[in-house]
Amino acid sequence: HSKRAGSHGCVVHDPSLTDRRADDALLSEDLDHALDRGELHVLYQPIVTLADARPVAAEALLRWQHPTRGPIPPDRFIPIAERSGAIARIGLWVLAEAAAQPFPTSVNISPRQLREPTVVHDILAVLHRTGRDPRDLILEITESASVDGETVIGALRTLRTHGIRIAIDDFGTGYSSLQYLTRLPVDILKIDRSFVAELNGTPGGAAVTEAIIHLARALTLTTVAEGIETPAQAAELQSLGCDKGQGYLYAEPLPAADVARTFVASAAEGRTGNVGGSA
Ligand code: C2E
Ligand code: MG
Ligand code: MG
Ligand code: MG
Repeated sequence: HSKRAGSHGCVVHDPSLTDRRADDALLSEDLDHALDRGELHVLYQPIVTLADARPVAAEALLRWQHPTRGPIPPDRFIPIAERSGAIARIGLWVLAEAAAQPFPTSVNISPRQLREPTVVHDILAVLHRTGRDPRDLILEITESASVDGETVIGALRTLRTHGIRIAIDDFGTGYSSLQYLTRLPVDILKIDRSFVAELNGTPGGAAVTEAIIHLARALTLTTVAEGIETPAQAAELQSLGCDKGQGYLYAEPLPAADVARTFVASAAEGRTGNVGGSA
């Protein structure tokens, strides 16, 4: 399984043995056709209220099943798609898939996508076509210098006036200028899972998470903790005042139909119960 036919008919050895950039170029070429060949699909990870583990939305997470290499993780191929520009078309496809689901979705948008001159029009057109309420869409952006510009901030502002919510993903790990936080139109801070992993019941372990939650409160933003894996983490986050969470404790990324069922069950029970179990 260490060989594959290269795009030019040559045989390429195990990627770990080849130059990374040469391999990136091959993947980039393959990625250009991946969408048309049906190799991409989207999984959805429920986002729940910490108080009662009720699903409120689900994050769309892109998957690529490469025909010869098998699954390629998004952390590997998204940066390649950003460099080639393929992310514009792929990202819009993810958005259309997400908007077609019967539950609110949170969609990752890359900086490159946000710099497309037609981004506002394209996103609103998808919502119009699918008949979705903009209030059922959250856009997740990562902190980076490239979104800290007037054009991108203007686009985000316009999207937000339509009712779309903006989340900062992996908060605390990126470009992180606090000044930028007051300039950017934002509704939600997603606490990076590296901080959640540090929670161990001690003040030291909770320091960064607590600071983010206090900051969010002061700016009247909602907090969503990422990568919750244990009931102890969920309990500690809740006692620190975090609003919502996602992670393997509740559900891993799942096919849309499975997630739709959890929303139906939650609504039918009309309840404040415990989907998947929480604190
Ligand atoms: P992200 O947006 O921060 O997504 C959360 C990542 O954490 C996902 O990895 C998810 O599967 C993983 N995760 C969820 N719960 C847990 C947990 O309890 N423990 C651990 N260890 N991990 C958990 P995934 O699906 O591999 O995606 C990686 C990154 O790829 C995403 O990070 C996002 O930055 C990017 N990505 C995925 N789909 C898209 C997309 O459609 N567009 C763009 N631009 N980026 C995407
Ligand atoms: Mg995300
Ligand atoms: Mg994240
Ligand atoms: Mg990430």
